[in-house]
Amino acid sequence: MTNDSGSRIDGVTAGVEAAVDRLVELVRGSARVVALTGAGISTESGIPDYRGPGGVWERNAPPTLGDFRENEETRRRYWARRREGYPRMAAAAPNEGHRALAALERSGRLAAIVTQNIDGLQQKAGSDPERVIELHGTTHVVRCLACGWSWSAAEIHARLPAAGEPPVCGRCGGALRAATILFGASLPEAALGRAVAAAVSCDLMLVVGTSLVVNPAGRLPLVAKRAGARVAIVNREATPLDGVAEVVVAGEAGAVLAAVERRVDRGVG
Ligand code: NAD
Repeated sequence: MTNDSGSRIDGVTAGVEAAVDRLVELVRGSARVVALTGAGISTESGIPDYRGPGGVWERNAPPTLGDFRENEETRRRYWARRREGYPRMAAAAPNEGHRALAALERSGRLAAIVTQNIDGLQQKAGSDPERVIELHGTTHVVRCLACGWSWSAAEIHARLPAAGEPPVCGRCGGALRAATILFGASLPEAALGRAVAAAVSCDLMLVVGTSLVVNPAGRLPLVAKRAGARVAIVNREATPLDGVAEVVVAGEAGAVLAAVERRVDRGVG
């Protein structure tokens, strides 16, 4: 039986069926899958990616850490945007892609999810927070750049100063920003160490919704491959690592992951 697009797999276009079949086989044959996710897994939750059409990058290239520290105007602009943007991000709901990964984790196949995302949607979908490695930090925490103290973003947003004024640290008066990694800043060492450990110990790295152009995250599939794992990529567009992958599924993350999970965990479809 086929659906509207002539495919026998729900939500998956006819052209990518064979790749989905291969991905199902790979996941079934793996004891320890590690997922590497990027902004593309969250676009179906209404959060734009960076480099896709209409993405954040096209509209607003992010400031560097140095610029943020030194330039009051940069901080004002950042907080003006965040005042509007954070409540939308906080209200976003996980989609079937996040839910499928959480289900694969519950069934014991998925050992960890290394994410470049800052949106917290994987945890909202029910993944064990201990198994979600946030390489680029989280937007749900706000930190003082001077003393390092941190608060939940909800707490800071509930008491923002008058429009146009960036909030400052209640303890030392320092500049505040979300606990996310800016260009020019290094990655949290503990998270990077855990991500590399996950990459070298998996037998399948399942890459989802990332352009793989931001390093070091973008190199993790190579780290996994060199340690003996297979690599599978689910992404709308081609990536620089398609050539090292066992299978590339050029489809929508949500529908593809949902189909894979249904078939692997529940033997459906
Ligand atoms: P990216 O924007 O560079 O790449 C996203 C990739 O996902 C693109 O290749 C795009 O074609 C693909 N894609 C988009 N929607 C898809 C879908 N529904 N199904 C399949 N593929 C889809 O993102 P990146 O590689 O994660 O790197 C960008 C940086 O941006 C990261 O550092 C991340 O921290 C940050 N970021 C995070 C969020 C978030 O937390 N949701 C959003 C924007 C940017």
